[in-house]
Amino acid sequence: MNRMSSENNLDKPKEDEIVRIDFAFRKELAEKVEGNLASFCYQCGACVGDCPATFYSDDFNPREIMLKVLYGLEKELIGEDSVLWLCTNCYNCTERCPQDVKPVEVIISLKNMLADRGIVPKTVSRIIDTFEKTGRTVQLSSAVTKERAKLGLKPLEEIPMDEIHKLLAPAEEDSGK
Ligand code: SF4
Ligand code: SF4
Repeated sequence: MNRMSSENNLDKPKEDEIVRIDFAFRKELAEKVEGNLASFCYQCGACVGDCPATFYSDDFNPREIMLKVLYGLEKELIGEDSVLWLCTNCYNCTERCPQDVKPVEVIISLKNMLADRGIVPKTVSRIIDTFEKTGRTVQLSSAVTKERAKLGLKPLEEIPMDEIHKLLAPAEEDSGK
């Protein structure tokens, strides 16, 4: 959009065109991600090319997420309609980033903030429940066990649940479970 008027002065941008930086939220997030990684993002877009979430959804773009982090756009990042759960935690963005921003680490911190607010999709809640009960992220069915045997794979070992609960204890105390 050309903002130059005939007198060569800048037109005043409309209110809805102005992005206001939320320094307080930006600082809060920077403290959660060791090294304030997003501040090194120079918006090259290399993280987008190999992102499976971007491939399947027009709404998800790690470069844009890093830009929103730089602006501190709290509502867009961790509001009710957050797209962050689409991230598969595959780490492709981190391997591609020339600035060592580790976008996935920033996104994981944001997901933790979403979880603290209780904004967690049902599918993710189910995975968490299964993990707390069985130590696995998916239930082992008898069909899987039989298929493994047919393929000559060893039976899966029992998960030491007491160890899992010890690891989970600090998080469970924080959430008041
Ligand atoms: S690859 Fe790194 S520097 Fe480039 S946009 Fe993505 S996060 Fe920013
Ligand atoms: S970790 Fe998330 S943001 Fe990064 S490439 Fe994978 S799906 Fe995309």
